[in-house]
Amino acid sequence: MKKKLAITFSIVLIISCTIGVFSYLILKNLPNWGSINKKSPLQTERIENQNDNHNIIAQLAKLKGRAAGTKYEKEAATLIAREFVNLDLEPLPNNTNFYFQTFKVPQSESYISGERLRFRGQGPPVLSSQNVFGFLPGTNKDKVLIFTAHYDGQGINNNEIYESANDNLSGVYVLLKVAQALKDRPKRNLSYLFVAFGSEEIGLYGSEFFLQNLPIRSDTILGVINCDTVSSEKEVMILQAFTKNPLVAKVEEALTNYNFRVKLELSKLRTSDHYHFSAAGLDALTIAAADWLEGNHTPQDTYEKLNFKILDQLGKALVDMALTMDEHTMY
Ligand SMILES: [Zn+2]
Repeated sequence: MKKKLAITFSIVLIISCTIGVFSYLILKNLPNWGSINKKSPLQTERIENQNDNHNIIAQLAKLKGRAAGTKYEKEAATLIAREFVNLDLEPLPNNTNFYFQTFKVPQSESYISGERLRFRGQGPPVLSSQNVFGFLPGTNKDKVLIFTAHYDGQGINNNEIYESANDNLSGVYVLLKVAQALKDRPKRNLSYLFVAFGSEEIGLYGSEFFLQNLPIRSDTILGVINCDTVSSEKEVMILQAFTKNPLVAKVEEALTNYNFRVKLELSKLRTSDHYHFSAAGLDALTIAAADWLEGNHTPQDTYEKLNFKILDQLGKALVDMALTMDEHTMY
């Protein structure tokens, strides 16, 4: 009897130790994600304000331009992950790092191209950056529509903060609006993955890493809709894609239904994060405001200039498009 008890005790001890070691390893690898805790007072406060994503965008705009690989970019990732938790989005089951996917990037160097300051990674990958995911499962987990937006910005240059609000907190705002509206649907046929990419500005590093380390099977991806610099005073949007794939046609129709004028820019240029998906043969596109260049990559790209009315309108159009796809998917 004593022997039996001793064996049981040993087994319990071994299991507890194993769980302990695994938990430690997982937590050790997490970026600083503050108090992502379902019962934190912060979350209660956010739930009350759930219909207002302006607040989180204002907080993100204060993070000194969120340059790739900086602590400010990490803080931004933490805020977005917390928002995904608030929206009840799920981490991906086979992703050991919860809502995050971390990767290494080089230091960034700036150069003038035309009138704009631009950036590129230079040297060995020594800095740590991250993508943030949130998954919204539907009846069919093998049909996934992906919405993306990069959340990194241009940081501090010549002692000036580049808030990088239109480029690209405007896209992050639309991403959160779409997530919230789809989550509120009682029934979904399709599943949705929301991804906020890091390190876009220095050379599309986040989306490249994502594609090379896909956390879901590529044959489950229906398409990728990326928003980059979508605030404007005008109702005119550009769709950038390699070809006029079926997704481009769907988004074009939805935007037109919501009073937008749409211009297609079909090219294989590396203009934004749809590039790597398109190059891999997936249906992908980037939505940008037609006048996206105005104030772009300058200290004048500030939170105060964001036009939330247009962003809400764009969000509604994308939700409508997603729901039309959702309803027409048969099982
Ligand atoms: Zn951008």
